[in-house]
Amino acid sequence: MQLTERKMEKSLCTLAAHKYSCVYHCAAAESQHSQNDSNSCTEVTHYRCNKKKLHRKNISRDSEEENNGEKKDASKTDEKKTQLDCPPLGLESLRVDDSQIRASSSQRSGLGPHRGRLNIQSGIADGDLYDGAWCAGYKDQNQWLEVDAIYLTLFTGVVLQGKNSIWSWDWVHTYKVQLSNDSVTWKTCMNGTEEAIFEGTRTHGPRCSTWYINGTVCLRAEILGCRVHDPDDIYSSEQDLGSKDPLDFRHHNYKEMRKLMKSVTEECPDITRIYTIGRSYTGLKLYVMEISDNPGKHELGEPEFRYVAGMHGNEALGRELVLNLMQYLCKEYKKGNQRVVRLVTDTRIHLLPSMNPDGYEEAYKKGSELAGWAEGRYSFEGIDLNSNFPDLNNIMWDAEEMAGDKSKVSNHYIPIPEYYTQEDAMVSPETRAVISWMQDIPFVLSANLHGGELVVSYPFDCTVGWAPQEDTPTADNAFFRWLATVYASTNLVMANPNRRLCHHEDFQAHNNIINGGAWHTVPGSMNDFSYMHTNCFEVTVELSCDKYPHVSELPIEWENNKESLLVYMEQIHRGIKGVVRDKMTKQGISDAVIKVEDHDHDIRSAADGDYWRLLNPGEYKVVVWAEGYIPSMRRCHVGMEPRATICDFTLTKIPLQRLKEIRTKGLKIPQDLLQLRLRALRLRKLRATTKVLNQRRVGQRRLQEERKARGA
Ligand SMILES: [Zn+2]
Repeated sequence: MQLTERKMEKSLCTLAAHKYSCVYHCAAAESQHSQNDSNSCTEVTHYRCNKKKLHRKNISRDSEEENNGEKKDASKTDEKKTQLDCPPLGLESLRVDDSQIRASSSQRSGLGPHRGRLNIQSGIADGDLYDGAWCAGYKDQNQWLEVDAIYLTLFTGVVLQGKNSIWSWDWVHTYKVQLSNDSVTWKTCMNGTEEAIFEGTRTHGPRCSTWYINGTVCLRAEILGCRVHDPDDIYSSEQDLGSKDPLDFRHHNYKEMRKLMKSVTEECPDITRIYTIGRSYTGLKLYVMEISDNPGKHELGEPEFRYVAGMHGNEALGRELVLNLMQYLCKEYKKGNQRVVRLVTDTRIHLLPSMNPDGYEEAYKKGSELAGWAEGRYSFEGIDLNSNFPDLNNIMWDAEEMAGDKSKVSNHYIPIPEYYTQEDAMVSPETRAVISWMQDIPFVLSANLHGGELVVSYPFDCTVGWAPQEDTPTADNAFFRWLATVYASTNLVMANPNRRLCHHEDFQAHNNIINGGAWHTVPGSMNDFSYMHTNCFEVTVELSCDKYPHVSELPIEWENNKESLLVYMEQIHRGIKGVVRDKMTKQGISDAVIKVEDHDHDIRSAADGDYWRLLNPGEYKVVVWAEGYIPSMRRCHVGMEPRATICDFTLTKIPLQRLKEIRTKGLKIPQDLLQLRLRALRLRKLRATTKVLNQRRVGQRRLQEERKARGA
């Protein structure tokens, strides 16, 4: 461990299998979430090698600083303490290259050393090239996995997981850690005078019901270490991999997030506003930051944008990027950055950094390396919010099939189904809050920020006829592909042609974009709901291979995503927009239907009669109609420039005489109007049941608090 005492070329760390005899098999019924990405059998353990020496190391560093005449204060000492927690070398983040990982043997190439990375996910089928761990070819005590840190490194810890597979569970029971500077002589991590044996068992979690003696040596690992200055290496003064933007790069828990958001509004009071859209199950507020030149107001013709992050609580990068983005927009607006000023002036931006704050807090407690793959993904009640929205796809497809004619069925503004509005419907308070939010604001464009992969997926997420995987395009497929491409082609990691794939799927072959259904079907996704129930186009961005990157990765992740986050928002100014007005009164007409020829998906005007129709460049025949008005047609041209073409409409009322005729003939209410009424009715019902549930929860909480107070 005393790495700085001799001249060394590099530092290596080996995990030698010491005893492998135990393999856990968990009964599926006992695992809480048996989803494909949540193998709850794989728990993480974290061990610090040779604490004593580390401590000594720390002291000597302190004295060095004193010699340099540097002042020491309490906060400095605290900083030192956190420095002890060295960052991961990057087996999970892929900062460590495949060539840096070697092993004694491998069962086969799909289980090679390059698969021995923390949280790596296997494909559905075992036995392919991308399996869920490194597995040794032999079952003996001579098996090892070796990681070359390349630079002189002070190793401080190891994080281990078993194999990821839905078919088998392989686990290393105990292991030794050895260190070397030349890969010839190895020093074993000691525990006093004995070789330290670390246990790979899980500390908690569901109990195992069966033990298999014939297990295999399989593991996934992360190694923690700090790079040490090497006087013999002229290149050792590593170039700064961070960001030049002065943003608060760290993981913010609920309280810290609230504080940070408040500080942004204090810095930029003229363009920001914080509001809440509801509460999580445990009562944490769902905060939104609005950024616009007139916060709190919808301006005629100004489109509204939203970023939603943290729907899966453990996918923590999105939350930090959204917090970075609000700080960045504020600072750059004040500096007079023309691009940002234009964006903030022409767009009303809404940022929801944490849709599932309960889940986040659960993952945050464990931290970036120890929170497993699925810990904190779900809401407090165990609901996956990304499949908790009403499934409107199947309602529309069924109706189309019944009608036998697509054009007879409404292709947008599909109402929420009856079952969904019941008080006992399994609808989380977070989902209810977001649905109300979507209804209250005329959003045009959105992205839903996730993590754990590097790809942008676009609707539909749900396949026809419950196919597990099938390309399921919307009527706006071309524009959705454009949107996805805009983000993917400007994200610095996705755009790198030499990047290694995250887990087992090669999205690079498709330019890092994919149709949601072609990836895997998700009924009730937020993206599909947004497209079918409102005017808003939404894609999902999978931001990084690592769901919860170490804090040291945050500046670089901001740089990786900064341009993408900005340029994606700018896409809201594509296509056509305008105001639909009454010819006589010049008043805006709300709920007017905007129909684009050859696009089986309509859009509706907002309360003031303004509308936005996202479209790729081209010539379009646009028909607008509203209840009681004569339809109007115009040709609208969309150019290449990133500016929406203004296409206003004035509608003439159907003459009173004609209306009377229609009424006396006793004609039925038009299908479309019926749909609209149903939509409003169901939403009212959903809000009413939400209110009841919330009141009940507040009452329960108060009762608990009273009991607690009485107990104390
Ligand atoms: Zn996710």
